[in-house]
Amino acid sequence: MKKDTCIFCKIANGEIPSRTVYEDADFRAILDLGPATKGHTLILPKEHAEDLYELPEEVAARVLPVAKKVAGLLKERLGCDGMNLVQNNGETAGQTVKHFHLHLIPRYVGDGQSILWKPTEPSAEELDGVWSALK
Ligand code: AMP
Ligand code: ZN
Repeated sequence: MKKDTCIFCKIANGEIPSRTVYEDADFRAILDLGPATKGHTLILPKEHAEDLYELPEEVAARVLPVAKKVAGLLKERLGCDGMNLVQNNGETAGQTVKHFHLHLIPRYVGDGQSILWKPTEPSAEELDGVWSALK
């Protein structure tokens, strides 16, 4: 289902033009308008889902094969040295558009970007506490 007020629904379904680099029946991959690096691409499902939690399982199962295809295209055509896949859920995690999307961020030696986190040093007890909450 599309959502009338959602800009990524409109882009994904071709109602708003975009710089499309890949399209199939279920997805459209577009160039990000505020790219972190040259070739920064967003993979958008055509069906609306706010985030990973809402994404239907069958759509989720197709996202990575599409990402693999588009990542290959970016590597081949742009000659990037690396590739980050980023997917934000919730404002706290940096999500600004509430329609699931997967970022493909080509990386180049010396591009000055940083998409890595600062590792912390929890105690064994703290790690065990998290582990018990999850198993
Ligand atoms: P996020 O912060 O994960 O929600 O990512 C939203 C991304 O969408 C940002 O990288 C924006 O630059 C990008 N963006 C927002 N509006 C558009 C648009 N109309 N076309 C292409 N990219 C967009
Ligand atoms: Zn949408």
